[in-house]
Amino acid sequence: MQLSERITHLTPDGTGGWGLYFRARAMADAGERIVELTVGEPDARTHDDILAEMHRAAMAGHTGYAAIPGTPELRQQIAARVSARTGLATAPENVLVTAGGQGALFAAHMAVCDPGDTALYIDPYYATYPGTIRGVGAVAHPVTARAEAGFLPRPADLDAAARETGAVSLLINSPNNPTGVLYDAATLQGIADVAQARDLWLISDEVYDTQVWDGTHISPRTLPGMAERTLVIGSLSKSHAMTGSRLGWVVGPADVVARMSNLSTHTTYGVPGFIQDAGLYALRSDLEARVAAPFRRRRDLVLGLLADHTVPRAVLPQGAMYVVLDIRATGLSGNAFAEALLAEEKIAVMPGESFGRAAAGHIRVALTVEDAVLADAVARIIRFAQARRK
Ligand code: PMP
Repeated sequence: MQLSERITHLTPDGTGGWGLYFRARAMADAGERIVELTVGEPDARTHDDILAEMHRAAMAGHTGYAAIPGTPELRQQIAARVSARTGLATAPENVLVTAGGQGALFAAHMAVCDPGDTALYIDPYYATYPGTIRGVGAVAHPVTARAEAGFLPRPADLDAAARETGAVSLLINSPNNPTGVLYDAATLQGIADVAQARDLWLISDEVYDTQVWDGTHISPRTLPGMAERTLVIGSLSKSHAMTGSRLGWVVGPADVVARMSNLSTHTTYGVPGFIQDAGLYALRSDLEARVAAPFRRRRDLVLGLLADHTVPRAVLPQGAMYVVLDIRATGLSGNAFAEALLAEEKIAVMPGESFGRAAAGHIRVALTVEDAVLADAVARIIRFAQARRK
């Protein structure tokens, strides 16, 4: 039987760049001791108090179908959070609760792209981006943010790509996974100018907005003329260590949110009510800062170990929970380096190539293990890279 082109072409190599991660997991399952610095999952579990609220809500009967766009209380809380953080008045009608940030990314592209439309995204990118765009039947077109430009996209490149392809949307991510780069005000204004000049929807993935180490996070939805064409992606996965709860949202114009809610009716039929109640509790708690703190500490720890080294060279992360290392001086690709590191040192990192061509010759180290384990692994990565210096 023939499968759809849409599903068979979702990830051209079949793994979407997760090959090394799956191999490392298989080695760990087979009993090998692997230091896993691959996937972006906080090492802290969801806090007991959040789980207690989840249990309470379920026992109290919130186990039936829940409001599809999100419970009124949770939408209100997310709206208040966005209003407070960005200064832009946001109402519950601007919020759609989704199955994680990933569900939000899919819904947003579904809302603005027709089959065959071009959707722009920035390379390097979070690994699911091109597959998500292809999943809605659109054409995924990367725009390079070069290492030499500090992995910031150049508005002129975006403008050229939009003009040449007739794109309908642009997906950005700040603080950025994998690079940790935070888009500055000038870059964001340049992006907003292109979006308005080329009539693009801007999809702004801000799932790391609570993990900002240097500078200030700016949501481009707040820039003049942008609220009506911006869809912001949020999630409790990183901010509250709730990856498994699958709780995220899209913030955008009320009419778009209503359409996306209709999409939810025909896909997930909403997010479980006891999960939404737990998310509401999490957002009202002070857990956010406690979840972020270890990543800032480990980021400083790793940068301290890498200071003075040009092999490997750290890309300064201004946010998120990763450090990207430039290993081009070894002459190895990110893939070759990561494979050899896994085979010889039993340390699993993500090859830069998993995040696109612009990150080739780099590796991404997730700051998601205990400080001492991380420090030891980074010291070994430094020695490993230096031994292979060309
Ligand atoms: N966007 C970015 C940039 C991410 O790194 C992730 C998770 N790694 C997501 C979205 C999706 O996260 P979730 O679906 O768990 O909210």
